[in-house]
Amino acid sequence: VEALPADPESANFRRQVPAACYSWVTPASVPSPTLIAYSPEVASLLDLDSADCESEAFLQLFSGNRLLPGMTPWANNYGGHQFGHWAGQLGDGRAINLAEVRNRAGEHLTLQLKGAGPTPYSRSADGLAVLRSSLREFLCSEAMHHLGVPTTRALSLVSTGQPVLRDMFYDGNAGYEPGAIVCRVAPTFTRFGSFQIHAARNEIELLRRLVDFTIERDFPELGEPSANVYERWFDEVCQRTAQLMVHWMRVGFVHGVMNTDNLSVLGLTIDYGPYGWLEGYDPDWTPNTTDAGQRRYRYGQQPQVAHWNLYQLANAIAPLLEGTGGLQAALDRYGTCYQQQWQAMMAAKLGFDRWRGEADERLVTRLQDLLRLTETDMTIFYRSLANIDSSDTAQALSDAELMEPLRAAYYRPEELGGAIESRIAQWLRDYQRRLRQQSASDSERRGAMNRVNPCYVLRNYLAQQAIDKAEQGDYSEVETLLELLRHPYQEQPGKAAYAQRRPEWARQRAGCSMLSCSS
Ligand code: AMP
Ligand code: MG
Ligand code: MG
Repeated sequence: VEALPADPESANFRRQVPAACYSWVTPASVPSPTLIAYSPEVASLLDLDSADCESEAFLQLFSGNRLLPGMTPWANNYGGHQFGHWAGQLGDGRAINLAEVRNRAGEHLTLQLKGAGPTPYSRSADGLAVLRSSLREFLCSEAMHHLGVPTTRALSLVSTGQPVLRDMFYDGNAGYEPGAIVCRVAPTFTRFGSFQIHAARNEIELLRRLVDFTIERDFPELGEPSANVYERWFDEVCQRTAQLMVHWMRVGFVHGVMNTDNLSVLGLTIDYGPYGWLEGYDPDWTPNTTDAGQRRYRYGQQPQVAHWNLYQLANAIAPLLEGTGGLQAALDRYGTCYQQQWQAMMAAKLGFDRWRGEADERLVTRLQDLLRLTETDMTIFYRSLANIDSSDTAQALSDAELMEPLRAAYYRPEELGGAIESRIAQWLRDYQRRLRQQSASDSERRGAMNRVNPCYVLRNYLAQQAIDKAEQGDYSEVETLLELLRHPYQEQPGKAAYAQRRPEWARQRAGCSMLSCSS
């Protein structure tokens, strides 16, 4: 695929880049890089050991200061729909790919620095990233991976020693913040918007070459590219996206900026910005202050938004096909497959042997209402539900006794008692009845539930506490969280505080709940 000439003098100036999938660029140098953290799992994916990761060469490379021989860094060209509107060329405004590598297992992986300086696609921005957003991306990428959610990975988090000016801090004031760079790792960072930009510019042959390249490199199981294979490829993208949405709904993750440039063609979670985790269960919640009015990207709407985004991708690749019947069929299949997988996922969260149709549907619908009656922590609720006793003897429990295992999930215990408590108890009795219809024992069910309902997620306030310390030069909390979140389904000794409700002080504190796009 065409690229602009490698000219370090001129390569990074900002411009429209027609007729190219990427541009050669040079990462900026930074004054005094420091390694804050690295992921041992991603390192070993790249056949690197701890000595490699703690070396000076590693630090210089992953701060963008010193490339390895043979590296010719590039930035990708993509556009996208932002909040429903076509926005033209958008990126990579601050991501620079260092290399595509092949590991010993034969997997190909792209190494990408985020925040390593401007590219032709930087528009009016600086190409840099601040510590708080880089730390959030680093930790959450790895946390998501260990939760079993498809995601881009993060190898390293480096502070640059270079102050970065932001017009808005997370506390609402402007000023300088510490700069940082994350090295992201994924088979490819191609987004829906990578295809859209060529369709929008009527670069149909280039679009075809990018689709062919993507299929050959990232979807080889589909066979040699052809019109037929294009349809199967699109169907595969739809399926992976559906699976990703089911995972996000399962763990209570809200991406926050589901623009078409932020959806990966591989169905990976990509571009961690003002994301958040549901604490009090609320399908209307979004962490993104920029979206607080419209709430386009709220938790409960993510599966529909993904479908809308897939529709835009279908529009982009339609010129490669004779008709749109196959694309439409794939879009329709997205809906039915999402629904089926969502049901299977909910069955697993509730510890059911399988989804038993309408009766289970009714139980789940009632549960969703119940979770909104009074502020209920989603993560703690499902984790605790595993401890509900479904034996015959438990039928004799009072309402208050019955819901005892769930109490830790409630933010406003004073609202319990009375009508709310009796509605919860009523549901729990029906839930127990449902459990008694299946053969698994309570302990088997508990084990299965605890493998899909995490004990620990990267609550915004936990990330913010790590940020507060890191900004003072203390990186210990980054290590603690990285270690904790390697085993999110396992209760860990001495770590009970990380599994508790968000403390009240964090409710209004900047960075602990809602976030702006400033990063
Ligand atoms: P986002 O909505 O965060 O994915 O950002 C939209 C686009 O803006 C991305 O494709 C980035 O390339 C670009 N961008 C975001 N922040 C910066 C920055 N500080 N400098 C340059 N480009 C940026
Ligand atoms: Mg983005
Ligand atoms: Mg971003």
